[in-house]
Amino acid sequence: MEYAFAPPPVPSLPILGSPQRFPIRRVFCIGRNYAEHAKEMGAAVEPGRPMFFCKPADAVVADGADVPYPSATSELHHEVEMVLALGAGGRDVPVERAASLVWGVGVGLDLTRRDLQAQAKAKGHPWDVAKAFDHSAPVSALHRLDGALPGPDTELRLSVNGAQRQHTRLGEMIHDVPHILAALSTLFELQLGDLVFTGTPAGVAALERGDRFHAELVRYASLDGLIA
Ligand code: MN
Repeated sequence: MEYAFAPPPVPSLPILGSPQRFPIRRVFCIGRNYAEHAKEMGAAVEPGRPMFFCKPADAVVADGADVPYPSATSELHHEVEMVLALGAGGRDVPVERAASLVWGVGVGLDLTRRDLQAQAKAKGHPWDVAKAFDHSAPVSALHRLDGALPGPDTELRLSVNGAQRQHTRLGEMIHDVPHILAALSTLFELQLGDLVFTGTPAGVAALERGDRFHAELVRYASLDGLIA
């Protein structure tokens, strides 16, 4: 078999304490998973099924590379999130077994063209241009887990130019990790290499060219970057 042109490189993330890299298959994201963030967006908290969207794997910005300010927006928003890296897949995974799919965790930004998202919401259009643009997913090096998921008191936070913008405990999530993965696996057959963004707390706001951000999942992972 011969390709008509060289296939693109496989997007990947560094692994803390290892020379190996984690190859990325797909990127899934959950919307509205912290009540205070849903409220600040003027959205109702839906206690039922979670809402998902996707980003392309090559939207991931790895290794702390600069994030270019995207075209076609004047309202680039940060959303700091815990990112799950899956080491196993499956469909219709029961909640009791779902945590075992998680290979490691990191921290990332679900960057959003908020102005285009507001237009899409108003018109009932899809969110792709607001969420799935190039360089829309900076992610830290991954911390490989040895069994237990980060607990409910684990802190997730983001500062921009040294000032705190977002802060929460993971226990504030509406849908916890097992419930997110169980629900997602009813919609997609999950695969080794998939990443899952788990939602952002309140405090989303604009980033400008020249801003330096520091995202942290305390005791697990951190990411420093520049909006260029
Ligand atoms: Mn998000």
